[in-house]
Amino acid sequence: MKLNNYINGSWQEGGGADYAAVVNPANGETLCEVKLSGKQDVDEAVKAAKRAQKEWALVPAPKRADYLYEIGRLMKERKEHLAQVLTKEMGKVIEEGRGEVQEGIDMAFYMAGEGRRLFGETVPSELQDKFAMSVRAPIGVVGLITPWNFPVAIATWKSFPAIVAGNTFIWKPATETPMMAYEMARIFDEVGLPAGVANVVFGSGGEVGTAMIEHPDIRVISFTGSTETGRSVAELGGRHLKKVSLEMGGKNAVIVMDDADLDLAVEGILWSAFGTAGQRCTACSRVIVHRDVKEELEQRLLKQMEGLTIGDGLDESVKIGPVINAPALEKIHSYVEIGKKEGAKLLAGGRILEDGSLKGGYYYEPTLFTDVKWDSRIAQEEIFGPVISLIEVDSLDEAIEVNNSVTYGLSSSIFTRDVNQAFRAQRDLDTGIVYVNAGTTGAEIHLPFGGTKGTGNGHRDSGVAALDVFTEWKSIYVDYSGKLQRAQIDTE
Ligand code: NAP
Repeated sequence: MKLNNYINGSWQEGGGADYAAVVNPANGETLCEVKLSGKQDVDEAVKAAKRAQKEWALVPAPKRADYLYEIGRLMKERKEHLAQVLTKEMGKVIEEGRGEVQEGIDMAFYMAGEGRRLFGETVPSELQDKFAMSVRAPIGVVGLITPWNFPVAIATWKSFPAIVAGNTFIWKPATETPMMAYEMARIFDEVGLPAGVANVVFGSGGEVGTAMIEHPDIRVISFTGSTETGRSVAELGGRHLKKVSLEMGGKNAVIVMDDADLDLAVEGILWSAFGTAGQRCTACSRVIVHRDVKEELEQRLLKQMEGLTIGDGLDESVKIGPVINAPALEKIHSYVEIGKKEGAKLLAGGRILEDGSLKGGYYYEPTLFTDVKWDSRIAQEEIFGPVISLIEVDSLDEAIEVNNSVTYGLSSSIFTRDVNQAFRAQRDLDTGIVYVNAGTTGAEIHLPFGGTKGTGNGHRDSGVAALDVFTEWKSIYVDYSGKLQRAQIDTE
């Protein structure tokens, strides 16, 4: 099967285009092929989106929301199918695949509700017989660039607020995971979104992404991916005066204090560190542990790690699936080698797995380092694989300092039974998301999602905050006095 672009409400034939193979990371088998589009495809999609946007902005927001209710309903109906496709193309275990699809469903219904809110402000005017208010206005055509690790959820965080706010969009999914985008485009088509409102253009970041950022009629770029790519998106976007929303990498930590429930902490660490094979932006890759419980925590982690089944995520008994591709596998392994050279002690894992049923897939053994120095590379850089670094500290203050020492600021967590420590931590941890007595993963769609420092540039996905990316504030003054009233002057 060949996946082609969805532009102006129809599927575009490839016509001599190049295609890339889409590979199942669990076994290396080719699942389908995806079109590698170019600038002319982007131009065509933007033309359609621009044409559609004028009308779309005039559709009352509650009516625009009705499409989202329908999208949510279809996603719910197809939840198992979507989850299976997701697991096949990116590898996360099926239970997590279902969870991710559910996140998209939640986002559809939540943003549909916004169609009856989209609150602005009304404020008293300083002058008599004058009315003052602000409204959220749509921006126009927006560009969405998404990564492979959450191929559906992240797209819904961006496209649903864009839709309800009256924008039209061009979505470029990651080349590794076009199948979920194809499934979503089918749903957009089936619910009857007017032609040109939703457009999906497949292709590489270098070609399609660049063409989108440079296109004069795309006013917003909402990007999720690595910090390295995000920086170049921001640089190019800045040159073209684009509004650029960036959600980027993470180096997230779980803090375990000496009064923590250790069994709970172990569960939280394993779920956050090894879920999606460590390839979540919110993955726990550092454990900052109080000296008094370090050895006990190590022992309990090692014991639980023994029971983790690795394999094809479609097998319900499997706990850890493959990583996305061979370069990812090599990158993870190279960090393990770096960790050893830096003097960290390897307690478990550290190997590429390729025997028996794992042959042909991209599997990495869950890995645990201890005695890691807080400023070493494995404790500072995003590895994006199933590797945990344990760092020992003496106090809450030191734990917070170590947590905040990285250039990223997405998610952090603390396990403690002391409410005072918990509240101090939530105040002082420099991350966009903080968990108390839970791992670093588990965001819900109705709160803002994003991070500080190298993780973001101040925007947020998800929650009402997502509307800030896809709307402009318009302030409106209505003077019904019948005379010229000058603000700040005729107020006496
Ligand atoms: P990536 O390599 O940065 O790619 C992300 C997207 O950007 C892909 O669609 C990619 O297209 C595109 N792209 C690549 N080069 C581009 C360019 N020059 N201009 C425009 N677009 C370009 O990231 P990834 O490997 O897919 O995803 C993993 C990263 O995402 C990790 O760092 C993770 O922490 C981060 N992430 C962050 C969040 C968050 O919310 N903070 C959530 C999930 C993931 P192609 O790949 O098709 O070329």
